[in-house]
Amino acid sequence: MTPESFGIHALVWTGTWTPADARKALSGTRQAGYTRIELPLLDTWNIDPAVTKPIVDEFGLKVTGNQFLTEVNDITSEDPQIVAAGEAYLKKSADLVAALGGDLLCGTVYSRLGRPEKPVSPRGRANCVATLRTVAEHAGNLGVKLGLELCNRYETPLLNTARQALDLLDEIDHPNACVHIDTYHMHIEETDMATPVLACGTRLGYVHVGESHRGPLGTGTVDYPSFFRALATIGYTGPVTFESFSSAVLAPELTHALCIWRDLWTDSTTLATSARQFIDAQIRAVDPIRPLSR
Ligand code: MN
Repeated sequence: MTPESFGIHALVWTGTWTPADARKALSGTRQAGYTRIELPLLDTWNIDPAVTKPIVDEFGLKVTGNQFLTEVNDITSEDPQIVAAGEAYLKKSADLVAALGGDLLCGTVYSRLGRPEKPVSPRGRANCVATLRTVAEHAGNLGVKLGLELCNRYETPLLNTARQALDLLDEIDHPNACVHIDTYHMHIEETDMATPVLACGTRLGYVHVGESHRGPLGTGTVDYPSFFRALATIGYTGPVTFESFSSAVLAPELTHALCIWRDLWTDSTTLATSARQFIDAQIRAVDPIRPLSR
């Protein structure tokens, strides 16, 4: 299998986004052998495309924007004003990705991120579906694909498994929306690491590789050989992005929501370089696999 690009999450490098931070993160990304940066579109980062895009272009990187919703803009709400705020927020996020020259908006774009208090109601789900159909259309017109990232049960009540993501995609019924799978979340929620990938097939558009403790790749309990064999079997050719968090690098509005309380690493360059080698080894191992016809 040959991924379209190898990405890395910006929080491996920095918890803030000054011009100096941007340069450090984007040059580090390139030097560690990655070809894509995933930027969390945090309000506190206040990413200015006029500053960031020239640096992205200088290092020849592709761009993913990662977004999540909060209680003020949760599109699974029954309150029309909150849902409208969510639609506006997601459209603005897609606009920012496009202004950065990016091609994908992913993450928990379908609900609030954080410990759920109750399941989503049928009306809330209908609001979510209608909003995401509109957002997928808006983003598609900008050349930005919309990826729905399945997340564990402590972060969202809506999409914990790939099967649930596929069912929601059926309801959204828009070709610009796809499944965004994450090995860290899969490891918590799925029966195994291969079946969900095989179920997604061509509807899998984006991949996060994250370890069971969100630290260095290969030092946890995620079954990566099964996962990469399944990617090769479906002939996946999309991006593969490494995601890891440590209390050594914090952006409070995101890392606190993700419950990142420990130092799982301190040196970004060592972490990024070893993850890149780990991913390469997994891809080499599945080289003999010929994809099933798609
Ligand atoms: Mn993820």
